[in-house]
Amino acid sequence: MKTNLIGGKSLEQWLVDYPLLKDLIEPIEIFWGNPQYDKSSCGIPISEKEDIQDASRRLERFAPYLAEVFPETAESNGIIESPLLSIQAMQKRMEELESIELKGKLLIKCDSHLPISGSIKARGGIYEVLKHAEDIAIKHGLIDLTDNYKAFDGSDFKDLFSQYSIAVGSTGNLGLSIGIVGAQMGFKVTVHMSSDAKQWKKNLLRNKGVNVKEYASDYSKAVEEGRSQAAADPTCYFIDDENSKDLFLGYAVAASRLRKQLEGLKITVDENHPLFVYLPCGVGGGPGGVAYGLKAEFGDHVHCFFAEPTQSPCFLIGQMTGLYDSVSVQDFGLDNKTEADGLAVGRPSRFVGRKMGHLLSGCYTIEDQRLYSFLHHLAVTENLYLEPSALAGFYGPILLENHPVGLNYLKEHNLEGILRNGHHLIWGTGGNMVPHEIMEEYFNKGTRI
Ligand SMILES: *Cc1c(COP(=O)(O)O)cnc(C)c1O
Repeated sequence: MKTNLIGGKSLEQWLVDYPLLKDLIEPIEIFWGNPQYDKSSCGIPISEKEDIQDASRRLERFAPYLAEVFPETAESNGIIESPLLSIQAMQKRMEELESIELKGKLLIKCDSHLPISGSIKARGGIYEVLKHAEDIAIKHGLIDLTDNYKAFDGSDFKDLFSQYSIAVGSTGNLGLSIGIVGAQMGFKVTVHMSSDAKQWKKNLLRNKGVNVKEYASDYSKAVEEGRSQAAADPTCYFIDDENSKDLFLGYAVAASRLRKQLEGLKITVDENHPLFVYLPCGVGGGPGGVAYGLKAEFGDHVHCFFAEPTQSPCFLIGQMTGLYDSVSVQDFGLDNKTEADGLAVGRPSRFVGRKMGHLLSGCYTIEDQRLYSFLHHLAVTENLYLEPSALAGFYGPILLENHPVGLNYLKEHNLEGILRNGHHLIWGTGGNMVPHEIMEEYFNKGTRI
């Protein structure tokens, strides 16, 4: 009889070795503390920190251009950044609903309201397009690092870029970011969309002249197709969400800017003032890049947790089993079907898993129903409207302060006594571009739950 092995082992053996997998494949919500968590973040090499600073400077060079062509960034002088807010009313609501008290104070990072494309992908995705454009322009002698980058809006640049194409595979938001900026700069852009991608995202891109290809299969397939089609065309640049260092660096820039925002709110992060950060995770690139930047910036005083849907915990499975990208959620019998479209990814990024997996404090899974409930309560208490994926972080503070795994983490890292001085930062990853009537449906659904 043929038995189906997963990474060389039977399912029964996996369940013996990692008992938490039993709940994970049920699936019911789990909270996993990372046994490999390594407090060596101060050991992030100087060269890597310099790469992040280099990315930050590149975004500054492009700021005059962005302010010119995307007027919504003019107010911030062309810097694509989002608000950091204290959300006391939502905290009170969560405490009432769960009959708990949260010692740390709740903050939200509103990447849901990032200009240009309204999601965390406006960090990495736009950065990589800009970097690619800069590389081409320098190679053709059109620009120098010290020039004013407003020049990128000129017809000479657009004519040049029209001879090049960019391709990407996406569940929706990455395609949106890359499509909007790529098309604005003059590139021919093709976005390979997974079956989860929302119709309105495809329509919006087509209206901007982007070529949208649709697949009946999931995200990994869309990426694979995009990669192989792009490989056949030497003028085509493939933005590889599963492997790209540039995407990663674009996300990582968030951390130094967050430090300034925290200072603006008079919030300290140090050995007596911990910062806990909760990031919704799909393939791992966005949350991985941000978390890596945070570890480079705040070292051991920041604690990062990833949140995934119960049906799509690809990063958690990859880290827990040590199989990284050689395992998919489907291998463990999950179907990768979730209403959190931005997180509907069945196989994690190898690059991110290996690069920062050991810097991650833990991962948890969350049911779709709970996402809608948070969506409703956040809208009512704070008048903030996020898409379902973007709410996955809200469960984190509740788990950290009440779940046995969370309590154990606090104890092990001597955080119990200083929790009261600390902050829970929920990374709100998307929502501002969602059409009004669709957001209304989300909200109503959350109201019914
Ligand atoms: C893409 C996305 C994420 C997760 O980013 P990954 O790089 O796929 O891990 C989280 N939230 C939203 C809204 C997203 O679009």
